[in-house]
Amino acid sequence: MVKLYIVVPCYNEEEVLPISSKELHSFLMEMIGKKKIDESSKILFVDDGSKDSTWEIIQNLAKSDSHFSGIKFSRNFGHQNALWAGMTAAVQDADAIVTIDADLQDDISAIEEMVDEYVKGSDIVYGVRNNRDTDTLFKRKTAELFYSFMNKLGVNTIPNHADFRLMSKRATKTLLTFKEENLFLRGMVPMVGYPSAEVYYSRNARVAGESKYPLKKMINFALEGITSFSIVPIRVVRNVGVLTLLIGIIYMIYTFIQKLTGNVEVGWSSIIMSIWFLGGVQLVGLSIVGEYIGKIYFEVKGRPRFIIEDHI
Ligand code: UDP
Ligand code: MG
Repeated sequence: MVKLYIVVPCYNEEEVLPISSKELHSFLMEMIGKKKIDESSKILFVDDGSKDSTWEIIQNLAKSDSHFSGIKFSRNFGHQNALWAGMTAAVQDADAIVTIDADLQDDISAIEEMVDEYVKGSDIVYGVRNNRDTDTLFKRKTAELFYSFMNKLGVNTIPNHADFRLMSKRATKTLLTFKEENLFLRGMVPMVGYPSAEVYYSRNARVAGESKYPLKKMINFALEGITSFSIVPIRVVRNVGVLTLLIGIIYMIYTFIQKLTGNVEVGWSSIIMSIWFLGGVQLVGLSIVGEYIGKIYFEVKGRPRFIIEDHI
């Protein structure tokens, strides 16, 4: 039977944890009762350096019931690292791992469908929101813009999927071989491959407490996504450089004609030509250096060159 681990990152979640732990627990018991998952399945909390009583709550839960366990970070390392740590710990023991936020915005009952899909043969099951009504208009619009922009930059993500997903043991093990330090899981997981499926759910409002992703963190996360997956910005610099250079050459011809017809101030031609020409040369030069840095960047990431699914 499937041994399931539910990994829950928590950062200052004392308000919501008593509620969500109860719901997660009764869900786990129900699944065990239905014989869909093994009795030894667990809920694993990762305390991402909370400053409130989150860790005390987790400790008490673990003491009261063996289905709860926890990991505590020495300080705040961020949501993505908390998920990574949770998966690293869980993969030792679990057949399948679900990651879910602590605030119950994601529908716990969708996990049952995820497990069904896993049993049917999917290694990765993405939780996809079919509504964003509970997010503010601002959050919805910025998210939409961000994902279409990311796609243009060549970063493939599953639309309307955040970090609510199930992964099999082998998919998780493969993901954990990615050596990169800057994590953008929703871009990395699709790179793992293997058979996958999607389950749909409606996203709720946060049960209690406030979002731990203020605008500043959101922007940083978006930049992380772009710079971790794409060197398109370097290409943009190159194109601007080539354009500047072209304008420079046209300007050169133009100033030359002006000079020949004699209607220019002394010194104007040489200054105007140098500005455009050198500007273009510099930008192109920078983008060439950038191309190499981009190459080094991807080398350093040490991502696997291929992932084998099966052999015979
Ligand atoms: N979280 C975390 N570390 C952080 C920020 C957030 O572990 O530095 C956790 C948080 O406790 C929650 C999840 O990540 O379980 C998602 O955060 P939140 O619900 O605040 O984000 P939002 O849903 O508003 O985007
Ligand atoms: Mg949330």
